[in-house]
Amino acid sequence: SPDPFPRAEVRIDLDLIRHNLALLAGRAAASGAATMAVVKADAYGHGAVPVARAALEAGATWLGACSLAEALTLREAGIQAPMLAWLDTADTDYTPAIAAGVDLGLSNAGELERAASAARRAGGRARVHLKIDTGLSRNGCPPHAWPALVKSAAADSAVEVVGIWSHLACADEPGHPSIDAQASRFQQAYDVALEAGLHPMRHLANSAATLTRPDLHFDLVRVGIAMYGLNPVPQPEDLRPAMTFRSSVVSTKRVDAGESVSYGHTWTAEAATTLALVPAGYADGVPRTLSGRLDVWLDGRRRPVVGRVCMDQIVVDCGDHEPAPGTEVVLFGSGEGGAPTATEWADKIGTIDYEIVTGMCRPRVARSYT
Ligand code: PLP
Repeated sequence: SPDPFPRAEVRIDLDLIRHNLALLAGRAAASGAATMAVVKADAYGHGAVPVARAALEAGATWLGACSLAEALTLREAGIQAPMLAWLDTADTDYTPAIAAGVDLGLSNAGELERAASAARRAGGRARVHLKIDTGLSRNGCPPHAWPALVKSAAADSAVEVVGIWSHLACADEPGHPSIDAQASRFQQAYDVALEAGLHPMRHLANSAATLTRPDLHFDLVRVGIAMYGLNPVPQPEDLRPAMTFRSSVVSTKRVDAGESVSYGHTWTAEAATTLALVPAGYADGVPRTLSGRLDVWLDGRRRPVVGRVCMDQIVVDCGDHEPAPGTEVVLFGSGEGGAPTATEWADKIGTIDYEIVTGMCRPRVARSYT
């Protein structure tokens, strides 16, 4: 049962998800492409079902999940849109995908055979998207094995080849030579499919390529991070971060100059000051490595977190300001007025904002929607 008094929560603004998705879907539509909203990993920590619904309202017509289980969760919530699931274990039973009408992203002959036998068992056809490895060297069929994979898929009546697809390695670095190299291998892979008598849809672009490479939109773009309002490319875009991580002041205390704060006494007050206690720590998603370089937004301005980030709490230096208990504390959010963002956190600790927001999916942190 949800905590009636959450110490820390992420608040998701679904209007901003709709705003971001509409912007991306508009770019895709301008080149004749449809839009898949990527809602894997519980929609990058934003909540798969509400985000999927918001994205479909705003112009997405496809949904993308990682595992079949993630896709089935969306179906169980009554979401009927076309859906692709692309990465499961080597022993996953694909049978539920046939009944639920979930498309499968497949990379090799073994996966194709499992999909085909699941379809025969279920008395239906497996809708598949064959993935060509154009240079990311993760999953995807290597080019030398591609003609055989395409041929067997084309020849199997239990299989319908709906799409061919691939994924870019460096789309967030516009102009990186690997982008064109991958695009040209993708074209060659498509030609092989045409020669086999198939006319599948094609999809290659993630958020970054959707924003910077309209020539690579093909039939469908797959957008994740930009839908959540985090911009993966250097150029400015009107994307608005949809997640706010917030907590509140529990209590305050006045300390004298010379008093030190938190484990290890890494910070000492230079003058008398008011410290506010905030009940969010590294068990709630505040990286301990941000100790000493973290600010929060409290009563209309940035204020420094002093001393080490603890498991359950942080301490904010408020100077001569005395915040009332219960005052909202924003750890990261839209960035409005100069407030901290997930991207700022990521830059400070040497990661990407994807990891920050996805990491907010944790039992101690409540989630609410506006
Ligand atoms: N397509 C695939 C196969 C992915 O794995 C992902 C996410 O990593 C995306 C699309 C969406 O990427 P992004 O969040 O950069 O838009």
